[in-house]
Amino acid sequence: MHRSSVPLLWRLQESKYRLIGTKCTACNQLYFPPRNLCPTCRREGKIEQFQFSGIGEVVSYTIIRTAPSGFEKLAPYVVAIVKLDEGPNISGQIVGDKDMVEIGKKVRPVFRRMYEDGDDGLIQYGIKFQPAENEASTEKGKQK
Ligand code: ZN
Repeated sequence: MHRSSVPLLWRLQESKYRLIGTKCTACNQLYFPPRNLCPTCRREGKIEQFQFSGIGEVVSYTIIRTAPSGFEKLAPYVVAIVKLDEGPNISGQIVGDKDMVEIGKKVRPVFRRMYEDGDDGLIQYGIKFQPAENEASTEKGKQK
């Protein structure tokens, strides 16, 4: 029996660690988390995998001081909405000095040990970010 949902599930797992989303090649819309249907193009759309860089900037953030059960040792920590350079917003924890986090702060992804039981929305995609303090010089020379 062939079920088309199985490969997508597998990709969803994979995307947690490698920031793999999808792209609709009909309208060029990018999706993260990955979707197997472009809501704009529907059946006319053609979906393929897309590797996000993970580079982006903070659009909002919250300092979590009272962590839920299992995360007490982490508090206080910062959870931010990061707008990726490619477009989509993704939420994730910001590691490092929380005083460095601010709106508009450039961040880059870090891949560290993830929490297996992170299904409560705290660490939604298994990816964390850190402020890219010393990479401001790359701003102007951006290729894209
Ligand atoms: Zn589309």
